[in-house]
Amino acid sequence: MKLYVHIPFCHAKCAYCDFYSTPRREWMEAFVDAAIGEWGERSAGLSEPVDTLYFGGGTPSSLPAELLRRLLEALQTENLREATIEANPEDVTDDWVRFISGETPFRRVSMGVQSFCDDELVTVGRRHSAARAAEAIDCLRRGGIDNLSCDLIYGLPGQTAGSWRRSLERLISFRPEHISAYLLSYEAGTRLDAMRRKGTVTEADDDMAEAMYEALCDMTRMAGYVHYEISNFALPGCEAVHNSAYWDNSPYIGLGPGAHSFDGFRRSFNPSSLKDYIASGGRGFGITEEESTDSRFNDLLITRLRTRHGLHPDEVERLFGRSVRDFFTATAIPLISAGDLEISPSGAYVIPESCWLTSNSILLPFIRV
Ligand code: SF4
Repeated sequence: MKLYVHIPFCHAKCAYCDFYSTPRREWMEAFVDAAIGEWGERSAGLSEPVDTLYFGGGTPSSLPAELLRRLLEALQTENLREATIEANPEDVTDDWVRFISGETPFRRVSMGVQSFCDDELVTVGRRHSAARAAEAIDCLRRGGIDNLSCDLIYGLPGQTAGSWRRSLERLISFRPEHISAYLLSYEAGTRLDAMRRKGTVTEADDDMAEAMYEALCDMTRMAGYVHYEISNFALPGCEAVHNSAYWDNSPYIGLGPGAHSFDGFRRSFNPSSLKDYIASGGRGFGITEEESTDSRFNDLLITRLRTRHGLHPDEVERLFGRSVRDFFTATAIPLISAGDLEISPSGAYVIPESCWLTSNSILLPFIRV
């Protein structure tokens, strides 16, 4: 079982972000109490032990040490295959790294670097500079973190093909075990979307986005990274175990406001309200979504076909039955002939890596409504 804990606090809101978070630090203690309450309710009767733990957000590194310690003591943290905490560069100090390495189960840190160009960071409201991100990486390495993942964003306002390559080169020079790189998206309701509508920023066009994706694939490959999912690259043996659950159809529990869960058949989510979460004590807070077989098939298809493992017809049959398998294999025939889909040595259907970014038209014929 994978366990995710959403820590819903950020010092300030980045312009592009639509994750649930609040700057209300005075609610941190009550949040931890509620998360412990939620875990108490949801861990009762768990059929399998927790094997990966992921603290995301929000900004987990903004949680004071004594609260993090209290929350961890209440969770099941023995015999984990992987434990990850997200951090922002401004929080990463020698003391913080010493605490994380010495007193918590976290051996993997995922840090939002986003760019090594200060102008690009300022435009999207990041609070750290490129130099601070570099110092934070040094700090993490000095403190013994040997499983480091760093995020970058491409398609940022003002970013050029050259500045994107420089950010990538700089990050690769630190040799993080894992890199996540996302194409910037303009989500409704974000400050960035309002800036675009006002005309103060311009979205990268498709040609620029594709050129940046190509540079990303080429540069990471030449540096020895394996591109295993549309946005994820790892040195051999360093693929993210926890995150792979999201495209593997594995069950996971999400604690905290705004967190999602999946029991293998049904999805549920916690409403994005810290106030209501605290008032509920974390109990009876989740809302279960009834999902049709077609919708579950669509979810699996969209995530899995953009990984290098692809989707095997046998797995489709096991999860959804013979008729969905027949639909899947029949729909694939013209796409295989056109070279938009390949068959791996194991028999799984895989979209070629070069098409992952623009794969919507390939996925469309498979979508069941
Ligand atoms: S620090 Fe992360 S979670 Fe918080 S606002 Fe920025 S992008 Fe969103």
